[in-house]
Amino acid sequence: MEIKTFVEGPIDANNYLIIDEKTKDAVLIDCSSARPEFIKAVKDSGVNLKYILLTHGHFDHLLGIDAFKEAFGVDTYVAEDDLTQVKLVPDMMQMFLGMSPAPVPAIVNFVNDGDEFKIGDIVIKAISTPGHTKGGMCYLVESNLFSGDTLFQGSVGRCDLLEGDLKAIVKSIKEKLFTLSEDTKVYPGHGASTTIGYEKKYNEILNI
Ligand SMILES: [Zn+2]
Repeated sequence: MEIKTFVEGPIDANNYLIIDEKTKDAVLIDCSSARPEFIKAVKDSGVNLKYILLTHGHFDHLLGIDAFKEAFGVDTYVAEDDLTQVKLVPDMMQMFLGMSPAPVPAIVNFVNDGDEFKIGDIVIKAISTPGHTKGGMCYLVESNLFSGDTLFQGSVGRCDLLEGDLKAIVKSIKEKLFTLSEDTKVYPGHGASTTIGYEKKYNEILNI
């Protein structure tokens, strides 16, 4: 398995391309930009992009999905609980970036807690982690966790935005993520990667 990281979009979100080296099937976790260089880089990887899986519905993680659908014919999945967030993308872009409203991205596929996606023999398992948003999802791929804006190195996602819930994020992290093996590598939606073991020792959540 190969993991390629692309830092893209207005708020430097991490997009992770996970590739099964045998079949070249791939999945993209988050898709934060329609920048042609980003699309070209994924094309040049020579992969069969099978799914785009969103960690949540915030605008800074999904601005590329329509362009990727056009380039790769690939569908995007989000938790149904985050459709409210997806519908707000044009407003958020105006509020945070002063950009003129763009159309609401078209998502018709939903991911639920425990769902599994496959690329070759590699299984991608969805874990529902509400808190940063109601429909927040993490994805576990072997011993790698793609944690979106739920868990960062040393900190957790903000809970003061629409439908954010501090109690829920603490519960999600302590009960669902901190029960994973300590050597699980964590790839967050922004910033540097970390491990579950490190976060169980040093994350700010321990003081919440
Ligand atoms: Zn977010």
